[in-house]
Amino acid sequence: MENLWKGDQRMARLAEPYKIKSVEPLRMTTRAERAEAMRQAGYNTFLLRSKDVYIDLLTDSGTNAMSQAQWSALMLGDEAYSGSESFFRFEAAVQEVYGMPYVVPTHQGRGAEHILSQILIHQGDVVPGNMYFTTTREHQELAGGRFVDVIIDEAHDSQNVHPFKGNVDLAKLEQAIVEAGPEHVPYVSVALTVNMAGGQPVSLENLRAVRSLCDKYGVKIYMDATRAVENAFFVQEREPGNEGRSIREIFLEQLSYADGCTVSAKKDAIVNIGGFLATRDEETFEAAKELLVVFEGFPHYGGLAGRDMEALAVGIHEMIEDSYIRHRVLQVRGLGDRLLAAGVPIVQPVGGHGVFLDAKRFLSHLDQEQMPAQALAAALYVDAGVRGMERGVVSSGRDHATGENHHPKLELVRLTIPRRVYTESHMDVVADSVVHLYGQRSEIPGLQFVFEPKRLRFFTARFEPLRPSPVFEA
Ligand SMILES: *Cc1c(COP(=O)(O)O)cnc(C)c1O
Repeated sequence: MENLWKGDQRMARLAEPYKIKSVEPLRMTTRAERAEAMRQAGYNTFLLRSKDVYIDLLTDSGTNAMSQAQWSALMLGDEAYSGSESFFRFEAAVQEVYGMPYVVPTHQGRGAEHILSQILIHQGDVVPGNMYFTTTREHQELAGGRFVDVIIDEAHDSQNVHPFKGNVDLAKLEQAIVEAGPEHVPYVSVALTVNMAGGQPVSLENLRAVRSLCDKYGVKIYMDATRAVENAFFVQEREPGNEGRSIREIFLEQLSYADGCTVSAKKDAIVNIGGFLATRDEETFEAAKELLVVFEGFPHYGGLAGRDMEALAVGIHEMIEDSYIRHRVLQVRGLGDRLLAAGVPIVQPVGGHGVFLDAKRFLSHLDQEQMPAQALAAALYVDAGVRGMERGVVSSGRDHATGENHHPKLELVRLTIPRRVYTESHMDVVADSVVHLYGQRSEIPGLQFVFEPKRLRFFTARFEPLRPSPVFEA
C-alpha cells in the first residue's frame, strides 16, 4: 500500500491522499480591497484580519485540518478532571509512537518547555542546541541557563544544499560540554527539524554520534520533537539504508536516542492546540507533575480539554502514515521547485514546513534598513491575498545598548504550509503571484516605521512605503 505510487513520483507530488468532505469558504477579494486592507494593517501581515486573507501561509502552527476520525473522536472526550479516559488514550498513543513511558500533556509546546527548563536547568548552566528557537531559548534563559549554538556552519548559509543541514557539529558540542563542565550541562537540546534554519533535518547517523558523545560525558538529550515526523521523512528519503523502512520505524529510532522530548502538537500531530513533555526518566516525570499542577493543570489534562487529547491521540497515529507525510513534504517542496524554476531566490534545500523567500536577493535594490522582507510580504498580500510572515530585520529587533537595528544574515519571507488545508491549485496561485512579483521587483519600495513597539515589534509595528508604488495601489 505504502509503495503503491513509489514508481510515479510526479503523481505522488500532485495528488492529495485525502478527499474533501467539509469545506470552509474563502472570501475572494478585489485588488482594491486588498490594497486598502494592507494600508489599514500598516503594511504588517500580522495585523490583517483573516477574513481578508485568501491563502494564509502565516504559520503551520495549529492551522491544520483534522480528519473525520479526529472530528469523531472529539465526541468521545472524557472531561473528567482526574482519571480521564481521554488522557489514557493520549498516553497510550505517545507510548506507542514516541516510545516514551512517561508523558504529561500541556496547553502547547511552550508549556512543556517551561516545565522541563524549570526542572533541569540551574543558574549558570549551559544548554547546547542545534540553533535556537524563540520560546525554547526564552524558557532556558528564564531558568538561568545560557543557550550555545552547536549546529553545523552550513545551516547559516541559505544556498548550501547539505542534505542534513540541521545536524549537530560534534566538535562544537564537545567544546561546549568541556568548557562548561559536564555537570553544568543539564541536557543537549536537539530539534527535529530545525525551524529557524528553514525546517532542515538531522540524520540518524548524527543522532547516534550525539548520543555516544553525550554518554561519554554523562549528559542527557532532550529533543524538541515538534516536527520529528518531517525529519523522519527526510531520513527515509535521503539517508542510505533507510529507503525501505517505514516512517513509524524511523520515527521511533530517532526518539530512541533521547532521554525525553518536548512537543508542540500544533505542528506534526495535525491538531489545533496542545503539546506535551515525554520522558524515560521517572524522577523528571514526578517533578513535572508537581510543576504541572501549578502552571498547566492536573496531570491528566494539563491545560487541554478531554476532547483535545482525543483528537491528539488520533493525530499521533495519522501523522506517521507514509502517504500522508510524503504528500505533506512534497507539497511544500513542489512550491519551492516552481519558484526555483522561475529563478526566484529561496532558501535551499526546501525544508519540511515552508518555503522561505530570500528577500535580500529578491529585492537587491533595497538596503536591509529599508526592510525588504516586510515590503515583499506586504506586496504579496496585495497581489494575490497570500499572507506570509517577515523573518528578517524587523523580527530581529534593536540592539539594547546602541539602539541600532540588528542585521541578521537571513532576510526572509516565510511561506508556511498548513497540513491538509490547501490544494495544489492554491499552491499554483502562490507560485504565480511570487513569480509575477519577481518580474516587477524593481517597483517594490522599501518601508519605514510609523509605529514601533519596544518588544517583539514584528507583531504590532506599523509601516508606510518610502515612495508611492503600483505594487501597493488598487
Ligand atoms: C512552535 C514551536 C515551539 C513552541 O510551541 P507552541 O505550541 O507554539 O507553544 C517549539 N519549538 C518549535 C521548533 C516550534 O516550531
